[in-house]
Amino acid sequence: MRTRFAPSPTGPLHLGHAYSAILAHDMARAAGGTFLLRMEDTDLERSKPEWDALIQDDLAWLGLSWDGAVHRQSDHIPSYNARLDTLAGLGLLYPCSCSRGDIRAALSAPQEGAAHNVYPGTCRSRPMASRQPGDALRLDLEKALAALAGHDLGFTETGPAHAGRHRVDPDEARASIGDIVLGRKGENIVAYFLASAFDDADQRISHVIRGEDLFEFAPIQVILQHLLDLPTPTYHHHRLIRDETGKRLAKRDDARAIRTYREDGASPADIRRLVGL
Ligand code: GLU
Repeated sequence: MRTRFAPSPTGPLHLGHAYSAILAHDMARAAGGTFLLRMEDTDLERSKPEWDALIQDDLAWLGLSWDGAVHRQSDHIPSYNARLDTLAGLGLLYPCSCSRGDIRAALSAPQEGAAHNVYPGTCRSRPMASRQPGDALRLDLEKALAALAGHDLGFTETGPAHAGRHRVDPDEARASIGDIVLGRKGENIVAYFLASAFDDADQRISHVIRGEDLFEFAPIQVILQHLLDLPTPTYHHHRLIRDETGKRLAKRDDARAIRTYREDGASPADIRRLVGL
């Protein structure tokens, strides 16, 4: 078993992250497997080395140890760009000059409840040769699905809410995924979906353990895995840690930062108790 914890260093480690990290760590260790730490820092504006360092410090304080060096996505941009080239070579990408906000939103992992706008296809007929500096690159979903005709786009989920075998439903993908942004080549910008799917394969992750808020995006990663000839890991989407009002703990919610609990004298065992372990 090879698992990973893949935070975006854009804020402090909070209780929800701690739960995710402990779960991935403990599952790997219980199986005599490997646990890796990956910093998903492709959003170069929001990612900060200070958060990166603080997250590592909090994880170590929690008693978690990871195998090998930290994998920092910003060090691997050429590998992601090579995958964009592969997709472009298959005729599956097109340049898009629509809303920068939309493009920005694609750079970090989507959050629970965030409306995922399906792109209306305004730029879909543009050839790659018309690409301008600053254009995003979008996946032509219809062409991607056609290229994958005959593939079994399935994945196994072992998390409590959706346990079982799932299959990507093309109609559902059209309605909820659409032509997602995968990058802005040449500007060292690559979207979460592509970087994360590629790294899971590259790091030979057998079990992707992460929050339930990301379950609805697993099909996008399965589609990308098939297009890029990458294996599909087993997914385990765990329950989310919520506050008393049922609201999901966001990174912004600094009151729930592990650092704050530490300063208030909590022990790692207290943190495990607080997240229900
Ligand atoms: N970097 C993502 C986040 O912090 C997690 C992505 C994943 O685990 O696949 O929300």
